[in-house]
Amino acid sequence: METTNDPTVVRLAKRTELFKRRGLEEEQALELAEALRYRDGDFDDRRMCIECAHLQRDGGCFAARQGWIQGAALYLTPVQTMLQRCGQFEWQIP
Ligand code: SF4
Repeated sequence: METTNDPTVVRLAKRTELFKRRGLEEEQALELAEALRYRDGDFDDRRMCIECAHLQRDGGCFAARQGWIQGAALYLTPVQTMLQRCGQFEWQIP
């Protein structure tokens, strides 16, 4: 049985709140957080921009704006919920 001390449960709750702050409805946010929990369990190293510390309120990418992503437009507004690998990814919630 899961408890609130289980780090995966705590992360699930924090991610759900983050995704809601970033515009998803509660049910969507919870479903995505649960899907990413399975991703973590599978040791899948792909990430989503919606999890990244560089995602800005306006949907832009801070790293792209700084020119840190080679070949990317400075005003890149990435797809937020697609699994991918990005060299500039940083966890918003570790
Ligand atoms: S740094 Fe990469 S993973 Fe993070 S928001 Fe920008 S494009 Fe997405």
